Formats: sequence, structure tokens, C-alpha cells
Amino acid sequence: MSNVSGNLFVVAAPSGAGKSSMISALLKRQKERGNPDSMQVSVSTTTRAPRPGEVDGVHYHFVDEATFLEQAEAGEFYEWAKVFDYYYGTSKTVIEKTLASGVDVFLDIDWQGTRQVKAAYPGVHTIFILPPSTAELERRLRDRGQDSDEVIAKRMAKAQSEMSHYGDFSYLIVNKDFEESVDNLEHIVLAQRLRRAKQQIRHQDILQELLAE
Ligand code: 5GP
Repeated sequence: MSNVSGNLFVVAAPSGAGKSSMISALLKRQKERGNPDSMQVSVSTTTRAPRPGEVDGVHYHFVDEATFLEQAEAGEFYEWAKVFDYYYGTSKTVIEKTLASGVDVFLDIDWQGTRQVKAAYPGVHTIFILPPSTAELERRLRDRGQDSDEVIAKRMAKAQSEMSHYGDFSYLIVNKDFEESVDNLEHIVLAQRLRRAKQQIRHQDILQELLAE
């Protein structure tokens, strides 16, 4: 899909690294700068239950396991994986349409899904976000106040295995200072947008006019 002007990004991190807040902050900045429709986060489908405050169709499409497996069987996912005890998947059609319309898409997925996306879409840009330390990661998970001790312990144990896959990613951001991390994410995204191959598609009219005999 080299003829689309939107860029596909995978942003991965262990739970609690600050990934979702960073992406939201970046989208907010773009909106404030008058580019509200330039990027969006892909809404995944999952079999896990909504957490307090999560809205169906906004944070995830919440479905039961039978529905998920039917959709997977029908080839409706770009990639899918079982993370913790639940299934998560990314809709193929929605992403392709969004990229074709010139909008950048962020996939908020784990390392297993990232491998599948890299195989299916070699042009994807992969970013991994790390917390500055184990103690800080645990503090952030507790501060959310949404999960039980048992869930937190399980996520801390999983975090290290998730982080061990950082080598699969092209960009690494250590989220110590939040604003600086959002700056870093923004630089990565904007640099991809300015690549000649993408600008050529976006600015065909200007190039034609400038180069007219
Ligand atoms: P959570 O349940 O905390 O929202 O997400 C748990 C994990 O599932 C996170 O690591 C998140 O990145 C991953 N995840 C969310 N959506 C998808 C998806 O569509 N595909 C894959 N492979 N992982 C996902």
C-alpha cells in the first residue's frame, strides 16, 4: 500500500508505560493546531469486559468470544492475538480505508500483533514506549485504581516479558517526562508524514503546477 498518503504506526508498551495518555495528548495537540482529522487510533475488538468509563465503539468494540472467533475465521482482522486471558484484534477494512483517505493510524497493540502487522504491512512504523523504572511502572499501575492487586501483580509479571521484545521496534521512547515523551512521539510521526513519497501523493496538484512547462 505504498500509494496511500496515511502512515501506519504501531505503538506498543507494557501496561502502565503511558502509551494511551501519550497518544491522546498527541491527538489533542493536532486538534489544537487545526488538524483534527490528521490522525486517529484504531479501535480494536476485544473479548474482555469494559473497565469503568470505557465506552463500546470508542475504546474497544466489546464482543463475546464466539463472535470474535467468527470474525477471525472470516478474515476480518488485520491481526489478532490472545493477551492475558482475552482476545484482541484489529479490523482490516477500517485501517485500509483510513490510510487511503490520508489519515495516519495508530495501532495500540502488543508485540505479537506487531509481528503480524510487520509481516502484512512492511511500511509500518513501530514505536515502543518504556517506563523509566520498575518501581515507577508499579506506581502508575496502582494509581489507576482500576484493577485488583491480583491483576496488578499479573501485569507486573507480564510487563517484563512484553519489554523484552523492544528489539522488534524501530523507535524507543522512555516515558520519564510526559511532555517530552509526547514531543518525541510527535517528531517521529511528523517526520514520516514529510517523507517525499507521502508528500508527493498529498501534494500532487502543487507539484504539477510548479513543474508545468
Ligand atoms: P488492555 O486490556 O489493557 O486495554 O490491553 C491489554 C493489551 O492488549 C495491551 O498490551 C494492548 O496493547 C493489547 N491490545 C489492544 N488491542 C489489541 C489488538 O487489536 N491487537 C493486539 N494484538 N493487541 C491488542
